[in-house]
Amino acid sequence: MLTRIDDILGTAKTAAILGHVRPDGDCVGSCLGLKNYLELSHPKLRVQVYLEDFPNSFRFLKGAEEISHDADDGTVYDLCIVLDAGDKERIGDFSNYFDSAATTACIDHHITNSGFAQMMHVCPDRSATSEVLFTLMDDAFVDKNVAECLYMGIVHDTGVFKHSNTTGETMRIAGELIDKGIDFSGIIDRTFYEKTYRQNQILGRMLTESVLFMDGLCIFAAVRKKILDFYQVGTKDLDGIVDQLRVTQGVECAILLYETASQEFKVSMRSNRVVDVSRIAAYFGGGGHVRAAGCSMTGSVHDVINNLSEHIEKQLVEAGLR
Ligand code: AMP
Ligand code: MN
Ligand code: MN
Repeated sequence: MLTRIDDILGTAKTAAILGHVRPDGDCVGSCLGLKNYLELSHPKLRVQVYLEDFPNSFRFLKGAEEISHDADDGTVYDLCIVLDAGDKERIGDFSNYFDSAATTACIDHHITNSGFAQMMHVCPDRSATSEVLFTLMDDAFVDKNVAECLYMGIVHDTGVFKHSNTTGETMRIAGELIDKGIDFSGIIDRTFYEKTYRQNQILGRMLTESVLFMDGLCIFAAVRKKILDFYQVGTKDLDGIVDQLRVTQGVECAILLYETASQEFKVSMRSNRVVDVSRIAAYFGGGGHVRAAGCSMTGSVHDVINNLSEHIEKQLVEAGLR
């Protein structure tokens, strides 16, 4: 485990920062937070962030325009730092930079992290990778730009400070970030709550088509590729749908499936009190947290829901809920 960011830098002159596929708020916030911090604290270090396409609402963060989507620009880095990704597959197309780097590090908060880098710093009790990063930073170099990035990351992974991963420490750190002079309400509204018209349409459709099962303890919705195309939305536009399913009265476990290829689905799971969805996701080759996890599965919607149900039911029986 590290005590400060400087512990991983060594003599590196160049560093690549990577996140995970389908970057979320914590992923983008932590990658840009670290980039901005390193540029202030180590001006001689050359830093490049590589990420897949991400929501436009995150583009106000400093450095967002300098993020590269190029999976193979030929650069070999002294150091590759992976943020918010629990295993190597989650890096997606950018693993070239990881494989060729002289040294590698991973800073993360996923309980399912496989420990794939040379230097590991994983804190499953922290709400967000952005929160972990803050604990490793020298306050003198946490300026308003860094604070905006980290605050956004924490806001997204805690669902605006309401998920069970939120701690007193999370709030104290958020308080310190607010004291840097950031527009915290604007960040919350513009990046978390604001949805495009099309996002609202697909949300409405998914809620209409959702199905309660297991006597109302579980709920699922599934979206086909052609439906995404019809509404002209991408998978990055589906954030928040599974969270809305989760707050259906009486529901313990919510599942959203979206089709990534024929007979292939990305699975997002959320639970409220008893089901450990990270265990189920890990069983099917994915990962995540106790109350929010995901994986990819093949088969029909029916097959996928049947396979997941078996595991959910087992946990509900263990908990005496069935
Ligand atoms: P999502 O449902 O995609 O919002 O993801 C919920 C949590 O589970 C996030 O912390 C993700 O990083 C993690 N997660 C989602 N999908 C996967 C996967 N295929 N493998 C590992 N972790 C995942
Ligand atoms: Mn993430
Ligand atoms: Mn995260």
